[in-house]
Amino acid sequence: MASLVLAACDGGSNGMTPGDTDGGGGSGDADAAPGGGDPFDPAALEADVQLLASDEMKGRAPGWPGDLATRMYIEERFAGFGLDAVDGSFQQPFVDSIDRETANVVGVLPGSDPAVADQIIVVGAHHDHLGVKNDRIYNGANDNASGVSVVLAAAQAVTQRAEAPRRTIVFATFGSEELGLEGSRYYARNPPAGLPIEDVVYMINLDMVGTYFNDDQVYAFGSFEGTPARAALEELLVSHPDITVELGASAVEVEGRGDSDYDSFCRKGIPYLYFFTEDDECYHRPCDDAGRLDYLHLAEVAELTAGSLLALADSDQDLIAARAEFGCGED
Ligand SMILES: [Zn+2]
Repeated sequence: MASLVLAACDGGSNGMTPGDTDGGGGSGDADAAPGGGDPFDPAALEADVQLLASDEMKGRAPGWPGDLATRMYIEERFAGFGLDAVDGSFQQPFVDSIDRETANVVGVLPGSDPAVADQIIVVGAHHDHLGVKNDRIYNGANDNASGVSVVLAAAQAVTQRAEAPRRTIVFATFGSEELGLEGSRYYARNPPAGLPIEDVVYMINLDMVGTYFNDDQVYAFGSFEGTPARAALEELLVSHPDITVELGASAVEVEGRGDSDYDSFCRKGIPYLYFFTEDDECYHRPCDDAGRLDYLHLAEVAELTAGSLLALADSDQDLIAARAEFGCGED
């Protein structure tokens, strides 16, 4: 699908405006075993990053053909995993503050336990990036094709399981994050039908998870002492001795308020778990390309994400009480 959409458009660098078409090349095989295979295979994650951060996507600027191709690719993967669309569409359209028409992509896995199926865990990552500037393509492999690849891997892993999770899981990718978290802000203020924001008990966020080598660690922001996410991670890390996870840090204190989409949910009183790796060399630079990422550790981040997600979705803990105790607050 992605390559078909791209073949019809060639967005951005030659002064064309969004939606113009000029016939171009596309790459990436979106049809290979959507639900099958090892979701944590580093090569599978790399294939997604290579496609989303390919020059053809022209840096995934909202409203441009590469943005549409990106969203169609994610939608196709969600559909392939058997996730539900909301009101017949995986796209949650919105217009950002500079009048670009774009959308969030949302897929739902309903919970199986009537006692807690109305409670929702959101796992998300932004799919947009900076587009083309001064004829340079900002491919945004780490920021944030890496995070999207983890959301896809987690969706594949969870839907491959025989039993459905107890709580409902929403898999989401957000648009216009680079402009100011506009897609996740839109989602938090206009939740899709049947998915009230009041019922979201946890948000797992992925942003820039491909440069473990920067500090030889990955942050698990929000995994404070006593939180359900902390307990889940500590249990998982027993079987992940080769990765260093910085536990208990606050994203607000380390990165400043509003640096990523968890904040839109945080402001609604929802506790978060946010995986992040620093990138001193190529943050928001044209050198943020797929070839330089650390896919072995990215795959481990994907395993930790899927494991934390399932631990929360199936948890016997009172996550409504945890929300009241650990939510950030104030919108
Ligand atoms: Zn980002």
